[in-house]
Amino acid sequence: MTWFDVPDDAAYGLATLPYGVFSRRGGEPTVGVRIGDSALELAAMAREARHPHADVFAASSLNPLMRLGPAVWRDVRRWVVSLFTDDTRRDTLTAHLVDLGEVDMLLPVEVADYVDFYASESHASNVGRIFRPDSPALPPNWKHLPIGYHGRAGTVVVSGTDVVRPSGQRSPDPSAAPIFGPSTKLDLECEVGFVVGCSSPLGEPVAVGSARDHIFGVVLLNDWSARDIQAWEYVPLGPFLGKSFATSISAWVVPLDAFIDAEVPLPRQDPAVLRYLQGEADDELWGLDLRLEVAINGSVVSAPDYRSMYWSPAQMLAHMTVNGASLRTGDLFASGTVSGDAADTFGSLLELTWNGTERVKLDDGGGRGFLEDGDVVTLTGSAPRPDGSWVTLGEVTGRIRSARE
Ligand code: MN
Repeated sequence: MTWFDVPDDAAYGLATLPYGVFSRRGGEPTVGVRIGDSALELAAMAREARHPHADVFAASSLNPLMRLGPAVWRDVRRWVVSLFTDDTRRDTLTAHLVDLGEVDMLLPVEVADYVDFYASESHASNVGRIFRPDSPALPPNWKHLPIGYHGRAGTVVVSGTDVVRPSGQRSPDPSAAPIFGPSTKLDLECEVGFVVGCSSPLGEPVAVGSARDHIFGVVLLNDWSARDIQAWEYVPLGPFLGKSFATSISAWVVPLDAFIDAEVPLPRQDPAVLRYLQGEADDELWGLDLRLEVAINGSVVSAPDYRSMYWSPAQMLAHMTVNGASLRTGDLFASGTVSGDAADTFGSLLELTWNGTERVKLDDGGGRGFLEDGDVVTLTGSAPRPDGSWVTLGEVTGRIRSARE
């Protein structure tokens, strides 16, 4: 328990302490840490405390902090915990706490490269059945490597940013010429994103067991997808304009260390994966027990369960670098849509409505095949802790605006 008035079982208690970047209306950006519905201005706090790394908090992104590596990340987290538990610092701390209603949240990370994976067996199978009904649901490589594609880092946006409905080429009638216009199959993808703090040298793969030396934190991520544009363009080189118009991430990045109690074994990988994806010990292949929710206009339409994911974050990182590709501070890689086996755990409308042939019900009596203008999509999630409390992921939300004329 902390002297600060946030019960241990509340969202964003001492077990979470996520980092973000914000400004008080019109002010300089500062790195902050969230507790309850308040944020602590770490730049001012660290300056007053003469913290040895005070300079990294007076920044417009988390990148300077992330670059310092896991030993410093842990020191800083211990320092932050001490601020909230040591009653003698109460006055200083209170002076630098602000209500979240009084700040503008900024994109927390200067995103370097962005890669999106496809790590849910259920999602990959569903997509295969929908897009390629005459072929096996999973492509032959799927259980041998974590499939991914490079997304567009420059269009990763912070939670709360409106998303303009994209226009593009689509081919609703395969016997006729393609047409151009606003997407009529705009979708969400509920995903978990991993933010890379420490870089790696060009030419040196990152082993499965070294993932914790590189992954700084975890965000929720909505990989907005225009299914009609995607379906027409994706063969043979994969997703392009159907995805690159916007990708939303939470404003708050939860340190990977916060999820230590949420580690779970992966589902059994059969056939056995190649050596570089195995790791040296089973505990290097951790999955995560993250319980997610997808809401449209406040109605919960799905509850994806991250623990069913086939590929682990460490395996994704190892695969991404096995050819010698280097990591940079700010790299972002996402899990791919999180879908469980049950229909109420699918992480996209493509699956929930089986490509628009069914509708999900909303609390106001309406339904959706795909997203309509004005819809607000919100992803939330948390991980249970042994004492009954929760680690809360930063939520990610976005409203659909109509296509430009
Ligand atoms: Mn995706």
